[in-house]
Amino acid sequence: MNFISTRNPDLSVDFQTALLQGLASDGGLFCPEKFPDLTQLFKSFTKSTPFNSISEETLSSLLGDTLSKDTVNTLISRAFFFAPRITQLENNLSILELFHGPSHAFKDFGACFLASAMENFLGNTNKKALILTATSGDTGSAVAQAFYKKNNINVVILYPSGRVSPLQEKQLTTLGENITALEIKGSFDDCQRMVKEAFLDDELTAKLPLSSANSINLGRLIPQSFYYIWGRKQSDNANFVFSVPSGNFGNLTAGIYAKTWGLPVTKFIAATNANDIVPEYLTSGIYAPRSSRLTLSNAMDVGAPSNYERLNHLFNNDVNKFRMNIIGETVSDKETLSAMKEVFTRFNYELCPHTAVGYLSARRHLCKEPDSHVMVLSTAHPAKFLEVVEQAIGKTPIIPENLLVLLSKQKKSTIMDPSSTKLKEYLLYHFI
Ligand SMILES: *Cc1c(COP(=O)(O)O)cnc(C)c1O
Repeated sequence: MNFISTRNPDLSVDFQTALLQGLASDGGLFCPEKFPDLTQLFKSFTKSTPFNSISEETLSSLLGDTLSKDTVNTLISRAFFFAPRITQLENNLSILELFHGPSHAFKDFGACFLASAMENFLGNTNKKALILTATSGDTGSAVAQAFYKKNNINVVILYPSGRVSPLQEKQLTTLGENITALEIKGSFDDCQRMVKEAFLDDELTAKLPLSSANSINLGRLIPQSFYYIWGRKQSDNANFVFSVPSGNFGNLTAGIYAKTWGLPVTKFIAATNANDIVPEYLTSGIYAPRSSRLTLSNAMDVGAPSNYERLNHLFNNDVNKFRMNIIGETVSDKETLSAMKEVFTRFNYELCPHTAVGYLSARRHLCKEPDSHVMVLSTAHPAKFLEVVEQAIGKTPIIPENLLVLLSKQKKSTIMDPSSTKLKEYLLYHFI
């Protein structure tokens, strides 16, 4: 199967090119050229089929014409040394825990697969890559952990000084080896601008093998569909709904892809915080991106969701097709905190603020359709958002061992002014 640009169906490339290139040359996003029917494959899986087997067989069915069975198995086994888990809160309400990977967020699935695929493809061609990425927290930590010690790949992460949580900063700055953290004396927007300008700089792109690992990369999107397939197998209810805490809508788009391949899902809930551009679009039919608002579920503070372009391409600009597949729900900060408290009191279970947005949206749906099963995607471990969890439930969440270890490690970062010239000098000096 090939992949085409959302802006031009004639711009068609293979998986390897889409993944190494990131963005299509016309500025569009890569998306699958066709939608194979995998209904029979999905039927052959059972509740106890391991996540890795589901991933291998699905990837083979999608890309068997480009990747050998051996390559597929290598990519999957290197990427997924962790798996999703299920916690059943009630008979028809469950939590799909996606935070058991190295950075404790669902982004690990995409980032680890991308890292293992890039390493494999580069190894075959004797090329190198220098990955440049800007982060406000979660993306950077997933990318850093995923690419750590990968052959032929260097990673430079730009983050805004003093504006990522202490734990996230440790995740970015304590690895060393092929991971470099640049602490920018500015905002996340400054970091993003510096990265964008580096990609537009002719001298830099000529001299360095620049590449990106951001969430629009197809190599992060495709593997995210695998946990939907695994999760769906955990319930027999025919009226089945996924509730997806959403920001850039990569996660939700991956679920929609799985549905187009034949996964039996009634609806997806686009669960957002005050950045409710998509829920608003579903109601009004008017898509109005705007600047983002700060909320407690800050990994979803996105005012112009980049994957809207992919969904719009899939649904042919037709809001009714969106409505047939997606329900919008918006949750305020106040409601987020009370949902976290409710779940802790009733089930003795801790939610991160993003997952709480998904949980409350699921509850609302169950009021309307009590016979459905709603599975909430849990996008991060509560310990990653210590301060918010404490505020909600009045106690410190249990911190996983490997995060505790991090807190005592020494931070190593290079402080830099928010200047593209400074970044350029740095890159030319260190990576030629
Ligand atoms: C990135 C992120 C989200 C949003 O995911 P999208 O794919 O951008 O919609 C939700 N929760 C957490 C914890 C995240 O890190």
